[in-house]
Amino acid sequence: MHRFDTPQAALKQVFGYDNFRGQQEAAVETVVAGGDALVLMPTGGGKSLCYQIPALLRDGVAIVVSPLIALMQDQVDALEEVGVRAAYLNSTQAPEESARVRAALRRGEMDLLYVAPERLLMPAMLDFLDSLEIALFAIDEAHCVSIWGHDFRPEYGALSVLRERWPEVPRMALTATADPKTREEIVEKLLLNPKEFVASFDRPNIFYRVVDKRNVREQLLSFIRLEHPGECGIVYCIARQRCEEIAEYLSANGVRALFYHAGLSAQERAKRLALFQQEDDIVVVATIAFGMGIDKPNVRFVAHVDMPKSIEGYFQETGRAGRDGLPADAWMAYGLNDVVNQRYFIEQSDADEIHKQLSTQKLDAMLGFAEAPDCRRVRLLAYFGEASKPCGHCDNCVNPPELWDATLPAKKLVSCIYRAQQMSGVSFGAQHIIDILQGKTNERIKARGHDKLSTFGIGSDLADTQWRAVLRQLIARHVIWVDALHRNTLRLGASANALLRGELEVHVRKSLVLKKGGKHGAK
Ligand code: ADP
Ligand code: ZN
Repeated sequence: MHRFDTPQAALKQVFGYDNFRGQQEAAVETVVAGGDALVLMPTGGGKSLCYQIPALLRDGVAIVVSPLIALMQDQVDALEEVGVRAAYLNSTQAPEESARVRAALRRGEMDLLYVAPERLLMPAMLDFLDSLEIALFAIDEAHCVSIWGHDFRPEYGALSVLRERWPEVPRMALTATADPKTREEIVEKLLLNPKEFVASFDRPNIFYRVVDKRNVREQLLSFIRLEHPGECGIVYCIARQRCEEIAEYLSANGVRALFYHAGLSAQERAKRLALFQQEDDIVVVATIAFGMGIDKPNVRFVAHVDMPKSIEGYFQETGRAGRDGLPADAWMAYGLNDVVNQRYFIEQSDADEIHKQLSTQKLDAMLGFAEAPDCRRVRLLAYFGEASKPCGHCDNCVNPPELWDATLPAKKLVSCIYRAQQMSGVSFGAQHIIDILQGKTNERIKARGHDKLSTFGIGSDLADTQWRAVLRQLIARHVIWVDALHRNTLRLGASANALLRGELEVHVRKSLVLKKGGKHGAK
């Protein structure tokens, strides 16, 4: 059915918009002309129109592959609302309903069909599609095809069948998160000589900030009180129980807070999400389960009280702030435990070696961001393959951190770990090593004879916080690793020799180590 002559006409008449945004028009034209396209736009960037408009301009039905079954109904409703003939097929549907959809498809009375990948790949479904005229395939959340990506789904890999079975049908792959490696994998597995349409991932209205984690509940509370009283925000935590505790603490201190995690019933979750969408002063304290379906424009801050596992995750979560374009904050508290816990999660998981390595690389990239002495935005965008200049709108740009050359303390720390292990035949945790360096004569040290070590007391000039900051750097850079399976003891890592040979310098942000008003300043 050709109701429209041009993409512009469809945009105006169906969706009521006067102009395409950014790369939308070029992406639409590519697919209308029968070519493959890769569309990379941040969430809210307007990816849907990139395939919905070609669906109206090309003959046949557009097949939209999406893993998000929960959102299909909403998408179909929105399209029907503007007079587009759309439907979905999925496992939650009554048989009569899916029969009705199939009949409409056979009669050629459908513009778009949403389907989950596992459903699409069923032999009966593929045969059925063979009997239809297909306008295009749109593969949403295309990063799911990537092993390297943060949300790998095996059934996505099998979507390469589309290219083999329907070589003449254009394909569009869409995603909001794809670093260069993931991008390559999407193209390789799903597309053929695609044109790429990459929107900037910059969110200029978001102010990025990372603070040193001390007493995180109090830090969070004062951040909210000082900068966002009575406003709406999301606080991300790593564990369910922590969500509950922090929500309770905020509530007890006058912040209207709710917790949200996958342990709540579906009904209760829907209720809390709806409340968050409607009201303008609610803070939701959540695990990453709180994500899908949030489209609130005036979220004024996203806070992380625990460090996310990857930059993709961080970017996606912080991206929920400031959709309305007004100033918003991305605030994260970060400390040694984040590094230790995350490493532990990776090590004790059932994942295979390759996945553990991938997770470790992603975590390292995240650590690099958290510890960065320079522009946060430059770091973030660089991760997604985008070059940029210092932004002037992040903590490091506004307040360039003074750096402290911690190479010598780093060497002391490494020697101390080595010597203690040599003397006792076992390795020790962070606190014990720091106690030795500071020359503390406590019971454990005396019992082990560690007051006889040559490294005993050689670090008494530095405070605990300073030692921990040095340690974090060394862990992030693989000079030291934390043996999570043996009570978090410290071991020397791959780069320890490079440090001792003088091939590695260690710089720590002074703000991470200065104790306010304390006698231990950074040297
Ligand atoms: P994404 O899928 O990239 O997260 P959507 O396709 O849901 O983003 O679009 C986000 C919002 O932007 C929607 O409300 C959509 O209607 C709106 N939008 C998209 N393109 C345009 C446009 N050209 N003009 C105005 N609004 C648009
Ligand atoms: Zn900056």
